[in-house]
Amino acid sequence: LIAADNPVIPYIEGDGIGKEITPFVKKIIDAAVEKSYGNKRKIEWIEVLAGEKAFNEIGTWLPDETIEAFRVNKIGIKGPLTTPVGEGIRSLNVALRQELDLYVCLRPVRWFKGVVTPLLHPEKVSVTIFRENTEDIYAGIEWAAGTAEAKKFLSFLKNEMGVNKIRFPESSSFGVKPVSREGTERLVRASIEYAIKNRLPSVTLVHKGNIMKFTEGGFKKWGYDLAEREFPDQTFTEHRFNQIKLEKGLNKAVEMYNEAVSTGKVFIKDVIADAFLQNTLLKPEEYSVIATLNLNGDYISDQLAAMVGGIGISPGANINYLTGHAIFEATHGTAPDIVGKNVANPCSMLLSGVMMLEHLGWSESGKLITSSLEKLFENGYGTPDLARFMENGKPLSTSEFSNKVIENL
Ligand code: NAD
Repeated sequence: LIAADNPVIPYIEGDGIGKEITPFVKKIIDAAVEKSYGNKRKIEWIEVLAGEKAFNEIGTWLPDETIEAFRVNKIGIKGPLTTPVGEGIRSLNVALRQELDLYVCLRPVRWFKGVVTPLLHPEKVSVTIFRENTEDIYAGIEWAAGTAEAKKFLSFLKNEMGVNKIRFPESSSFGVKPVSREGTERLVRASIEYAIKNRLPSVTLVHKGNIMKFTEGGFKKWGYDLAEREFPDQTFTEHRFNQIKLEKGLNKAVEMYNEAVSTGKVFIKDVIADAFLQNTLLKPEEYSVIATLNLNGDYISDQLAAMVGGIGISPGANINYLTGHAIFEATHGTAPDIVGKNVANPCSMLLSGVMMLEHLGWSESGKLITSSLEKLFENGYGTPDLARFMENGKPLSTSEFSNKVIENL
């Protein structure tokens, strides 16, 4: 996308530490844009309300105007939001994703030199996760134990679906896990297009299809079918590899694989989620682009973030590639334990801002911010969550660190 020179970008300041990081994130982005494009380009920020601020000011957690602003302007950014308790909305983030049908949760994970991690070779981690955002057990169709709905569902299972070989006690709660071919296809398509565009070697479908045959297993099958049907010239699948191995032997399959790799085709493979989580620690270099279902994606995103320094520095975005709607966001929560102390790390939201700049086609400004961060981390500068673990770490407050990012642009 090449944006207009003065795009209107709605932003949600966010609750808790959102109030402390968002103003700096905007300031750094503005400084980077000015540095790279002078006065030719400038973002016009408009604040839209959500979360506690919206509730306190107008009595609703997620005003229609906010959704409308994102709908009209297409691209926006948000700080973390408190999840309301007992207010009828399960999560504001989930509500926003559903309203705009943001079906991809995109999480690039990379390591910054200097940041302490639990890995021996964090430099081997360079992964982009495509997490399906609208289906799966996250769809929110569930019934609490003891309610009339749960009892009705139990009786439906027993009497109409013939599920009587397993005895569920009356005290069971139930959740439904919808996974569709269409939902899988649009997610996997986006991940393959991303790999092709960025010349990445592979897309891995991560699933638990060995246990959940039709939902997670469906995801794997539909993913492979899509790759073979829509991208026959740009991809080579593990599914096809296994077919050739059966029909023509291992040597032929390896030969075809080598030919595909040497001609720059993206290798589409799959792995079972539990093995994947082990492998990411033992051989992270095997993974490049990940496509996975909603709940797996939730766990995987945070594990991979922890492997390179934690959610304080891992960015994310929720995107609908068909309509162009995208909301870039801090991936952490409101951090109530550190609110008001001027120690919150702005990097998750800032790097989401970098993703937004890239999405706008303003990569120059994004690169300036990324290299400024690289310089600072390498020299031991960071907010306390990072710097206290660094060799010769120099902990800075949110404001000191943010100003240093600007100085180093
Ligand atoms: P959290 O992410 O807010 O905090 C977990 C831990 O990480 C805390 O110790 C916190 O101090 C630390 N931390 C998080 N972000 C940090 C940062 N930028 N800099 C330094 N340290 C940071 O998770 P939580 O405490 O479980 O949730 C608090 C609230 O946030 C809840 O209401 C939750 O629902 C909400 N939440 C919102 C989002 C979102 O808006 N995307 C995501 C997760 C949680």
